[in-house]
Amino acid sequence: MTSLRTIRGYAFDLDGTIWAGPHLLPGAAELVAALRRAGLAVVFASNSSRHGSDVLARELTRLGVPAEAREVVAAFDLTADEVLARIGPVPVLAIGTDDLERSLARVGHTPVPPERWTEARAVVVGNDPLFDFGRLRAASRAVAAGAAFFAVNLDARYPVADGFDPGCGALVEAVATAARSRPIVVGKPHPRMFEAAVARLGCPPAQAAMIGDSQESDIVGGKAAGMFTIWVAPHADVPAVVQPDLAVDGLPELHRLWLQAEDPSGSASLSA
Ligand SMILES: [Mg+2]
Repeated sequence: MTSLRTIRGYAFDLDGTIWAGPHLLPGAAELVAALRRAGLAVVFASNSSRHGSDVLARELTRLGVPAEAREVVAAFDLTADEVLARIGPVPVLAIGTDDLERSLARVGHTPVPPERWTEARAVVVGNDPLFDFGRLRAASRAVAAGAAFFAVNLDARYPVADGFDPGCGALVEAVATAARSRPIVVGKPHPRMFEAAVARLGCPPAQAAMIGDSQESDIVGGKAAGMFTIWVAPHADVPAVVQPDLAVDGLPELHRLWLQAEDPSGSASLSA
């Protein structure tokens, strides 16, 4: 049976696992540093649909968890790759942040503005703080006219400091309803994110752990990918929809369990 002792690589979700709004969660920096000191691989796997891996890596570093862009698997960037793999470099109507357009352009796509939706061969929906009726009309008409339809993720909510914003999934459903079409989804729990995370960890899925606070995306997707799943559940009032391999109330508890697994004699202690 797999236990923490056999895990060679750790993939951490970001929102609700490593950070909440603008703050690191307790124990995040200490655990990541300890795993790295022990020579274990660490990556971050985020459904973020507002920013790509470069912005997320900079934010991690600023908050005290040093990270390079290549250590962050972002649904945002994989979406641009997915469009490319399926239909090549094409004119794309992006419903999302300026960062989404930049991410699409970086791999060769040509962003088109909503008023030129007839030119779009693909529509990509991310989280768009400026979403409005005109963008909904342009995106749904483009999809109904035959443009390929991609969603960064189907998350209902986007956590922010004082609660939540409507998530990417809420905007996707508006477009899907009007277009009468379902999107190709890239973010967790769909397999692409986990395949990319395991590939970057450089170990077999059974020796890789997925750590996250969302049962529906992190645990369901991690299990399907054959990874060891660790559910971070600070509020045990959420009923379990799927059984993780391990449930912890926060990263300090995971750190403690990891130290025990590494050193069953108990001579190690939690170091900051
Ligand atoms: Mg999360």
